[in-house]
Parts: sequence; structure tokens; C-alpha cells
Amino acid sequence: MARYCIGIDLGGTFIKFGLLDRDFQPSPTFQLPTPLDWGVDGLIQQMVAGAHRLIDANNLKADEVVGIGIGTPGPLSITEGVIKSLPNIPGMENVPLRDLIAENMGIQTAIENDANAAAFGEYICGAGRNEGDMVMLTLGTGVGSGIIQDGRILHGANEIGAEIGHMIIHPGGEECNCGQKGCLEAYCSATYISERCKRLMAQGRPSSLGKVLEAKGKLSSRDVNNARKAGDALAAEVWEQAAYYLAIGCVNICRILDPDRIIIGGGLASAGNDLLEPIVRHFRTLHWKLTEPQTEIMIGYLAGDAGVIGAAGVAWTAFGQTEQESPAEEQAEEDQQAQQGNQDQQEAWWEKK
Ligand SMILES: [Zn+2]
Repeated sequence: MARYCIGIDLGGTFIKFGLLDRDFQPSPTFQLPTPLDWGVDGLIQQMVAGAHRLIDANNLKADEVVGIGIGTPGPLSITEGVIKSLPNIPGMENVPLRDLIAENMGIQTAIENDANAAAFGEYICGAGRNEGDMVMLTLGTGVGSGIIQDGRILHGANEIGAEIGHMIIHPGGEECNCGQKGCLEAYCSATYISERCKRLMAQGRPSSLGKVLEAKGKLSSRDVNNARKAGDALAAEVWEQAAYYLAIGCVNICRILDPDRIIIGGGLASAGNDLLEPIVRHFRTLHWKLTEPQTEIMIGYLAGDAGVIGAAGVAWTAFGQTEQESPAEEQAEEDQQAQQGNQDQQEAWWEKK
């Protein structure tokens, strides 16, 4: 019997749902809108509805689902299964999300920080596959991050570790939402890139982005990249600066952790090589000269599905060990192995002849 874990990725706009089987083969994902005004009950209802839809769409029986993993923004207490607060969703203070979902679904549930889940997704199914140590930076509204060491998610003593987006890379620099100054996030998020262009234009710097802003009423990091490619000097400067600071972040990561890979994900990563090339270029210049750079920097493979796949992976890690096969299944597997063994022996014997 095939068995699955359900992954749920709770975002500020959408909740994503997907399945992952025991061999880490993901199913197609779907999403529902995140209800922002329905309170805790409404949010739980929406998550439960999505999980049931997933089970129905795949014709799963109750005993085929091993567990549920939820990736959620924080801060969290992962061991207690509690969301301490959610900046984007009002009224979500000290919500025992893990137990609420487990009770409503009747399925054991685990929660994880969303950026950690995305890193774990890339680790088990994507760009970090078969690497023991990897770090992921998720560049979106902010800069999320996850650290995988020896195949495990690093949480820290107080479960607030691996927040590379809030590493100070410019002392006394830009104010960050977290209350620090000069955080990586305040220089490299997709939001920051477009905001900085707007600010420089407001200070009188000329740019073709002025027309885009006037026409659309807003500016995205994609607009900035397009303007840069069309030769806009201001767009090129801001893009290059973001890549420079990301490269500083990557060098610092290497000095502390020496990972096999640093994976770049999130909305900004859809720029692909346009983003990767300047990061790697600055990284090589900034890197110490004691050894050659060995950590590989690359774009993630899973794009927007990294979080939901990783969340399901977290459930497999939490509950995969305890799930038992039925005696009949175990016997069937043993028989198959024995048969294969006999066949191998026979083949080897014939080859010797
Ligand atoms: Zn910060």
C-alpha cells in the first residue's frame, strides 16, 4: 500500500497543499486563498478543507496518510506546535496550530518555519538533493532562510536560529522590520529592490522606471531587471548592489557553515542567471584566498513548491519512523526480496558457467 504525507504551506496570500510519497515523489499541488478576516477558526477551516480536497482528489484511504506537515511564517514554538504571531494575518497570537489541525483531521501533525520547510524541500527533492549540508535563501517580500546540516534542519537553542536575512551586513545601515539596522533583508529582498528604485527616483535620479511606475502604479523586481537589461543605469546599480550584499551574505555563510550548496529561491530567483551571475561574480571576488571557493551557489529547482514539498518532508521525518507496515505487506516484500536474491544467484551461476 502506498503511503503519503500531506504538506501545507501557509502563506500570507495563499495556502498551498500537496502530497509526498515515501520515495519523496511529490504530487501536483493546488492552492486556496488565505482567509485574512475569518479569525483562527476560519483559517483552520480553510486548511482542513484543502487537506480533505487533497485526500479526495487522490482517492486516499484514511490509513494511507501517515502525517501532516505545515510550513508557516513565525515566530513559532516548533516543539509546542504553536504560532506565536503572524505579521500578515491579524488575530493569530499563540495559536496551537499543530494540535488544532491534528484534532480536526484525526492525523498526527508537525509544524515548521516556512523558510526552513522550503530549504528542506530543495534538500529532499530539488537542488540540494544528495547534499548533506546546504543553505537556502528565499528572496521575496523579505529574505527567509533555512540551514540543513547533516540532513537535518537547524533550529538553534531557542528555535529562532538560521535567520540569515537578519544577519547585519551593513552596520548602521537601512532600518529593518525586525528592529535592527543593516540586515541582509533590508538590501536584497524583492520588495527592497523595487522600493530602493522608487526612493532614488524620488530623490531626482532619472530612470525609465518612472514611466513603468506611472503606468502600473507599482514597481516589481521583475520591472527593475527588465529596465536593467534595457540599459537603465539606476536599475543596474540597485540590482548590482543587491547581488553584492547577497554575495557578502554567502561568504559569511561559508565562513560559518562551509555548506556544499547555497540555494537561491523565492520570487526574485525567477530572474535565474540574471541574478545568479552577479552574485557568483561578487562572491568569487569577496571570498577569502586561503582556499578556492568550494560552495556552489545555484537557483532552486522547485520554485513555489519548495515550501509545500518540504512541509510534507518534515512530516515524513517526524512520523515516518513510527509508521508500521502490516505483517502481510512485510511478508510480501520479504518474499519479493528472496525471489530477487534467488534470481541473482542463478544468474551469477550461469555467468560462471
Ligand atoms: Zn532584520
